[in-house]
Amino acid sequence: MRTDFSLAQLADPHLAEVENNLRKCVHCGICTATCPTYVLLGDERDSPRGRIVMMQKMLEEGGAPSAETVLHVDRCLSCLGCRTACPSGVDYARLVDTARAHIETHYRRPLRERLLRWFIAKVMPHPGLMREGTTLAKAFSPVARVLPGRLGAMARMALKAPPPRRKFRTSAAPTHTRRVALLPGCVQQTINPYTDQSVKRLLARRGISAVTIDAGCCGALVHHLGREEDAKHFRKKLLEAFEWGNSSQPFEAVLISATGCASHIKEIAHLFQGDPKWFAGAKKFASKLRDISELAEPRLVTPPRKLRIAYHAPCSLQHGLKLSGKGEALLAAAGHEVMSIPEGHLCCGSAGSYSILQPEIASALRTRKLANAESTHPDVIVSSNVGCIHHLSGGAVPVLHLAEVIDWSEGGPTPRELELAESKKSR
Ligand code: SF4
Ligand code: SF4
Repeated sequence: MRTDFSLAQLADPHLAEVENNLRKCVHCGICTATCPTYVLLGDERDSPRGRIVMMQKMLEEGGAPSAETVLHVDRCLSCLGCRTACPSGVDYARLVDTARAHIETHYRRPLRERLLRWFIAKVMPHPGLMREGTTLAKAFSPVARVLPGRLGAMARMALKAPPPRRKFRTSAAPTHTRRVALLPGCVQQTINPYTDQSVKRLLARRGISAVTIDAGCCGALVHHLGREEDAKHFRKKLLEAFEWGNSSQPFEAVLISATGCASHIKEIAHLFQGDPKWFAGAKKFASKLRDISELAEPRLVTPPRKLRIAYHAPCSLQHGLKLSGKGEALLAAAGHEVMSIPEGHLCCGSAGSYSILQPEIASALRTRKLANAESTHPDVIVSSNVGCIHHLSGGAVPVLHLAEVIDWSEGGPTPRELELAESKKSR
């Protein structure tokens, strides 16, 4: 594809990278079939190929983008199904990241939109504020349940946060020679704080201590809003906390149990490219990143009950971390029957704050994913990303994190969602 950037524009490393990727695109359209918004809406402007054309025009021209371009770039889920599908090696992430940052700095959104985005950026990455928000939503639940549009999507997300669950003893202080840094992230701490308790227990059984390094948000949430300065701030905090924890006894790995955050961390060095102060540390940090399905070797056990599991591989796992198949192998070794979900390549619509910002598309994708999952007649749906789990929960089938199912299968506590499903069946 021909490009028309000026030499001054190409001096910007981000635009140079954009240009390099644009040149690789041959407009073949192979990516369109994997794009959830194109599959749903059938509009070329909501396909990767259509967005690429619009983003090129916007970035070459510079200045304020058209409302049309913003609408169609906003509708992109950043699922990166198109990146995996592209035979020419176009790295769509580099294009959409730069486009989002450009829109953020050159486009004035309507006031309501600005307020909503500000709220997401300033509240959701902070667990303390999120907890207060969920308490408030629960106190006004009759109102929160019927709120329309984006406010309603946000309120219902808060309502789904679980009540406090009984605590189970985990092995006391970290005692193993093998140590990994466990990042609790931000939103997960509020809406599913139990996943990491399972992670700690199942790793302890394998002789690994997971040491919590609570540095807060990884920056993914604001990065997808195009707020690059905010994202850098979070990433720097994370790197500093890791260096501090790593200095006395080095960690063999870095683990975060939300694959959406993990795939962002995998790219962290890239995001510090050209920054001599942070690049080397970011590269070292990213090189230690491991998913729970890589750290926990499969164990042959007999679970308390054999489950039929529909495994939902998050886009971040498939297209970001490229770890398809590992979660399924763990579940199978733990004695369960694992089934693939039809149209497994299509995003469920969660995508960070997407389900709040684009509730109609997110809801249509959720309905489609649940119908596909339920067509396999599962006892549970299992996934590896807090966003997907939260987005898909509330339907007929319980949705659990991979770590919780493995932990339970190996003798850990019964996840609350399983207990609830059992008691519903026995009524
Ligand atoms: S598959 Fe790749 S080369 Fe073909 S249109 Fe999509 S991005 Fe361009
Ligand atoms: S990232 Fe996902 S939603 Fe966005 S263009 Fe690519 S396939 Fe479509």
